[in-house]
Amino acid sequence: MKITHVETHRVKVPAADPPFRWRNGLGGSAPAGDGAVLRIGTDDGAEGVALYSRPGAAVMLEDLVERVFRPELIGQDPFQREWLWHRIWELDRIEELPLPALGLIDIALWDLAARASNQPVWQLLGGFRTEIPAYASTSTFSTVEEFLDVADQSLELGYTAIKLHAWGDARRDAELCEALRAHVGDQVPLMYDGSAGFDLPDAIYLGNALADQGYLWYEEPMREFSITAYARLARAVSVPLLVAETSDGAHMNSADFISAGAATFGVRAGTTLRGGITGAMRTAHLADAYRLRAEVHGSDIPNHHLCMAIPNTTYYESLVTSASVVRERHVDAAGLVHAPYGPGIGLPATLEYGPELQAFVEVSRPDSA
Ligand SMILES: [Mg+2]
Repeated sequence: MKITHVETHRVKVPAADPPFRWRNGLGGSAPAGDGAVLRIGTDDGAEGVALYSRPGAAVMLEDLVERVFRPELIGQDPFQREWLWHRIWELDRIEELPLPALGLIDIALWDLAARASNQPVWQLLGGFRTEIPAYASTSTFSTVEEFLDVADQSLELGYTAIKLHAWGDARRDAELCEALRAHVGDQVPLMYDGSAGFDLPDAIYLGNALADQGYLWYEEPMREFSITAYARLARAVSVPLLVAETSDGAHMNSADFISAGAATFGVRAGTTLRGGITGAMRTAHLADAYRLRAEVHGSDIPNHHLCMAIPNTTYYESLVTSASVVRERHVDAAGLVHAPYGPGIGLPATLEYGPELQAFVEVSRPDSA
């Protein structure tokens, strides 16, 4: 089998309603814009797709396909995913590809392979589980009271754990974390994500506060450029650290965080920022060797599959970005996410595609309303 076509299809990505942020000074939602689907096809009709949903992705992906991806892929065997994953790093050496673009070909090729064998990707990867708890991953709300109300609604809707993205002010965030613990009690697992808002002194201050409140993990308090800074943080605080979400270099970079002693809870694994499914699986296996967690990052469908395929993630990350909480469609009333069952990966049914992409849209479970 040979790859014969590599195409992009534009997709309208609506603006989030309401718009949200990850902390003060750091936007979360983007305005409406054009995302894109990468579509790879073969001489025997097998096809796979991957969605690049960020507004503005269409222009970037169209350029990359024309100049870089298509010339590289035409004539290649689509089942040689390892070889092509290796080739992407060679292309990255010149292009310095955006991290989400780096894994797109890999995701499309996993989709193609799973469709060709008529099974979901998580099973082709070697299924580990068929359901997993979701945590409510909040965006940044205005007041402590609003956060507590969002927590109440989330627990009411079935979520069993909560992760805060707060303001990025170490003192104020520490007070919020304490108030949330007092509000929900000791039995609800709580996590905190700093979205890289701090320097080392403030990261230590907040880390000590989180340790006092028994937080399960402390995620990305600083930009992930200095592993030394993370190693110093790990020595200074007892709250477990979850690191290496946005740093470049997939498992190779995660390995350095681990060997520096910085990943005291574990590392992030996700298909968007770790080089597609192949990179995320490498990262998960690396962490497993050290008996660490590889917590799956992101709530899109490729990561939904990843959650079912690796042993060492605890949760699926489900975004709660509105003060009037809406439970994500993949999460049931018990707070569980179930394995997708359609072939391949599936494009999210929430976006509008042209008729040429309808065959790739996620199939809803027959038992769900
Ligand atoms: Mg994060």
